[in-house]
Amino acid sequence: MTDLSRRGLIAGAAGGALLGGAAQGAAGAPAPIREPDGADILGPKNPAREAQDPFTLRPPKTDHGTMPNLKWSFADSHMRLEEGGWARQTTIRELPISKAMAGVNMRLKADAVREMHWHKEAEWSYMLKGRARITAVDQDGRTFADDVSEGDLWYFPSGIPHSIQGLESEIDGCEFLLVFDDGAFSEDSTFLITDWLAHTPRDVLAKNFGLPEEAFAGLPKEELYIFPGPKPGPLAADRMGGAGPIPQSFSHRMLAQAPIRTRGGSVRITDSTVFPASKTIAAALVEVEPGAMRELHWHPNGDEWQYYIDGTARMTVFGSESKARTFDYRAGDVGYVPFAMGHYIENTGATTLRFLEMFRSPTYADVSLAQWVALTPHALVRAHLGLDEAALGGLPTGKVQVLPG
Ligand code: MN
Ligand code: MN
Repeated sequence: MTDLSRRGLIAGAAGGALLGGAAQGAAGAPAPIREPDGADILGPKNPAREAQDPFTLRPPKTDHGTMPNLKWSFADSHMRLEEGGWARQTTIRELPISKAMAGVNMRLKADAVREMHWHKEAEWSYMLKGRARITAVDQDGRTFADDVSEGDLWYFPSGIPHSIQGLESEIDGCEFLLVFDDGAFSEDSTFLITDWLAHTPRDVLAKNFGLPEEAFAGLPKEELYIFPGPKPGPLAADRMGGAGPIPQSFSHRMLAQAPIRTRGGSVRITDSTVFPASKTIAAALVEVEPGAMRELHWHPNGDEWQYYIDGTARMTVFGSESKARTFDYRAGDVGYVPFAMGHYIENTGATTLRFLEMFRSPTYADVSLAQWVALTPHALVRAHLGLDEAALGGLPTGKVQVLPG
C-alpha cells in the first residue's frame, strides 16, 4: 500500500466513514458513498487527487450550503525557477478568498541571494529548513543583520529595504515561508535595486552616487531576483554601523519560546507582545498529536491564513446561515478561514500534525466555544443545548486549545 493510500484510509477512518468494498475506490481513494447516500464514480476521475481529499469526496452529513474554497496546495502554484533557487506563491490569484494575506514559499541554495528589494506590504517569515543571512536598513539609517535557522522568524515592515541569502547548511542553503499582509501581493512585483538602476539614466546615477558614468558599466540590464552570490563572511563583519542597530529586532526565535502544552499537543503564540517589530502579523505554531484536535473556536480580529508543515488534517468551517464545509489538508497546503467563522482542526494521520496560523493583526486572539459555554449561566445554556448540569459542570473553564484524542 502506498503512503498516499494509507493516509487516505486513515483520514477516512477518522471521519467515521465506511471503508472497504463499495466505499473504497481505486488507489485508496474513497468513493462518494455515505450510506445510504451517494454512488460510485463512473466517468473520468483522478484517484491520486481524490485520495488526498476524502472529506471533499465524501463530506460529513453536517456539511451544507455554498462556501468559498478554503484550500490551496503550493503543489499547484507556478514555480519560478532561477539559478540558485525557486519561488512559488499563493495569493488572491490562486485562492480568491484570501484577501487579507498572501504567502510565498522560497528556496535559496547556499550563497544564492534574493536580491536587495522592498515592497508595499510587510513581510513575515518562518524558516522551514536550513539557514539564511538577512539584512535591512530603515528610514533613519539604522541597520540590521542576522543569521536565521529552522523555527526562526523575521519581519520587515512595509517599504523597508532588505535582502536574504542562503547559508551553508546540511540541506545546501534554506527554504522558508513568507507571509505578506495583503492578499494581492505578488512576488513578481517587488521593487528590485537592479530593476530601478537599469531604468535610470546613467548621468543621473553618476550624479546621485558622485561617481563617473563608467563606474556603472557592470550594471545588469534586467533584474537578478534570485542569483548566486559571494559567500558571506562572519555575521559580525556584516553588521554595518550606520546610525546604530534598529531598535526592535527584525528577527525572533519562535521555536525557543516555551509552548503552551496540553494533553493533545502544544501552541506557541508569537505576536507583537513578544516580537515587537511584528506589528501587522500575529502567528501561532500548533502541534496536534494523532487523533487530537485544535478545539472549536473562532477569531475576533480577522481572517486566518494557515500553512501546514507536517501531517494531515481536516477542518470544517462554519459560515452561519446553515453553511459548513469540510476540507482536507496536508504538508505544503494553505488553509484559510474568513473573519469570525467557527472552525476546528483534527489530526487525521498517524504522526504529529504541525501547522502555522497567521493573522493580519498586532495581537493574537481566539474565542473558545467550550469556554463560552462553560462561563455562560448554565440554565441559559441548558435552554439552548439540552445539556444537563452534570455535563455543563464538568466543562473546563480554562481555554484548552488542543484537545487529546
Ligand atoms: Mn521581501
Ligand atoms: Mn483558528
